[in-house]
Amino acid sequence: MDREERESCYKNFIKVFGEDTQYVFAIEEMSELTKELCKYFRAKGNSEKLEKVKKDIIEETADVLICAETLRLMFGGKEVDEMIEYKIKRGQKRCEEKRLNLK
Ligand SMILES: [Mg+2]
Repeated sequence: MDREERESCYKNFIKVFGEDTQYVFAIEEMSELTKELCKYFRAKGNSEKLEKVKKDIIEETADVLICAETLRLMFGGKEVDEMIEYKIKRGQKRCEEKRLNLK
């Protein structure tokens, strides 16, 4: 599924479920990812539990990304993309500053 097909699905989610439901979905999914990340720390040292938590983190990360893409369409894809560019560039600058300070 390419980006265009995904966007078509997200637009359909918004149309069918409504914008208010998308806010609730996003809050729920972010909460689920938060919970799994907390479990990840507790599972360290237990390889069986760790594998299960990793699978759950993958699932919840996918859920959060779907919700984030839906919110992106609702609030303005261009503006969100511009903010992503700004934040990535800022992050790169901070990485470079940190790298220079470590020398
Ligand atoms: Mg979920």
